[in-house]
Amino acid sequence: MMGDKDYNQTVNNALDALARETELQIKDPQDNKDVFLHEVCGCMRRSYYDRFDKIEIQKKSFGNLFGGLIRKLPYGAKIGEFSIEEIKLKGQADMIVDDIVMIFRTVPSAPETPAASDILYLNGCMWIFNKTEGVIVYLAHDNTHTPFSVMREKKIFEETIRRVRVYSNLISEKKVPILEPSSECASCQYYERCFMKKNEGKQFSLTEMFGVKKK
Ligand code: SF4
Repeated sequence: MMGDKDYNQTVNNALDALARETELQIKDPQDNKDVFLHEVCGCMRRSYYDRFDKIEIQKKSFGNLFGGLIRKLPYGAKIGEFSIEEIKLKGQADMIVDDIVMIFRTVPSAPETPAASDILYLNGCMWIFNKTEGVIVYLAHDNTHTPFSVMREKKIFEETIRRVRVYSNLISEKKVPILEPSSECASCQYYERCFMKKNEGKQFSLTEMFGVKKK
């Protein structure tokens, strides 16, 4: 804080506004026939909380906003749909160039292998946009970029479809998905809900209860 101005608050408000503009918006959280690909590629419990009882991420990083900003550009990809019976699975790649589906992820350092959730997401985009080749590009804090190319895989998409059906059913039954412990938990805003039990019992002392004074 400098003088009377709280610059932190101003910056947070600006980042919140950017996030609102760039995040994919779910029109009706109760609508279990409308499922976004990103909701089933990571922890579904987190996605469920995001739909019905959201806690905003306190510190929005550039990484959180990056994909959304690219998709807003004129050459960014549009939202696509894939029908699974009556369910509409919606997904958005970051870019589609020369028939190659591309997604970008910002990371502290270049990974040895792509994250499973990123593979699931990229593969899902390839099916949604009917493309056969995709690339995940990891952009590291030291300004290096590491691309991984992936070919479309039916078996992986069948697993995505299975997760879409499970998630859609849980929404219609108003059931919170089971825990999916992973490295994602460490930075998840719902960590306390998942792993910390509230101590409901109120502590009392026998001396207070029976009016016995300590000697
Ligand atoms: S803490 Fe882990 S299990 Fe719980 S919602 Fe977050 S990512 Fe999922």
